Amino acid sequence: MACESGQGCGAGQGCGTNACSSENLCSKDERVFPPNGKKSGVCAKCKEQPTSEDFELCCTCLHTNLISKFKTAVNQNSLVTPADHVLVAFSGGAASRVALEFLREIRLRQQTDLDASRGQGTRVFGLGVVFVDEAAAWSGPSLDLEHTIEEISSIILTESERPVPLHIAKLQDVFEAEGLRSSVGLDEDVGIRSSEEMLQELLRNVEDVTGKEDLVTYLRMQVLQKIAKEHGYTKLVLGVCSSRIAARSIAATAKGQGYSFSADIQYWDSRWPVTVVLPLRDVLARELDVYCRLANLKTVVNKNTLHGTDKSKSINELSREFVSLLQMNFL
Ligand SMILES: [Zn+2]
Repeated sequence: MACESGQGCGAGQGCGTNACSSENLCSKDERVFPPNGKKSGVCAKCKEQPTSEDFELCCTCLHTNLISKFKTAVNQNSLVTPADHVLVAFSGGAASRVALEFLREIRLRQQTDLDASRGQGTRVFGLGVVFVDEAAAWSGPSLDLEHTIEEISSIILTESERPVPLHIAKLQDVFEAEGLRSSVGLDEDVGIRSSEEMLQELLRNVEDVTGKEDLVTYLRMQVLQKIAKEHGYTKLVLGVCSSRIAARSIAATAKGQGYSFSADIQYWDSRWPVTVVLPLRDVLARELDVYCRLANLKTVVNKNTLHGTDKSKSINELSREFVSLLQMNFL
């Protein structure tokens, strides 16, 4: 029985009674997560390739599944056009790693087509990567920053046919953004202090862990926008997947932030100076983690976001754990 839309339910909940016939599978499609839960050892889609112990698809079929969802999101919503200059916000995690890989793959295909047409085809979009170091926000030294940057550089250099610029920014760079000092309530006389001191003083004024995390998220977006604007990017890609949106939904409800939440989770958010796009909105975190492992896509552990706060007091973290437990026990 074919899914009526032919594109999967898109809600990450599965169609229930329908089995999608297109490549754009529901996240809970039977070919990805068989209802009987049996681990056959053979790919549930191609019936040929072996699978790993904890997943039902082989690497090739999982790639086909994920990039199909990615391309559908990109093409149906015009998230990336040939005229765009796209900046990927790279955290080192699986989601932004896959977003970078898929954009690189799409661009390579477009470049090949352009070369074959001897320049008569459409242009190929530009691509760049940005990493934001947040060590100063957690009042600690920047742990292994050089190593983190080396790792990210090696990912970009070794796996890209064309050079992809890497922008390294620090969270405190936000104070160089025009007009931001006044918007966060800083006085004029703080100009003599370093931007790192200003960041730490700002965060010291926020006592609860959740509020501090939310402020860091806001400042991070300001830094990303600053880098994007300075270097002429037209789109900012975030590796936000459906699992993260589910956690955000619960957290936003707990905080009473329902009003703007729907705008935060669209494929396309043009409220920012540089439009923010979420091409992985229909993909589960687990699928991304498994794909990185199966395809040997190197991810980077960024130690500078993991210390200095009590996660048990964070609404954001508790929401993430809740969604993670649900998916672990019921998928
Ligand atoms: Zn397969």
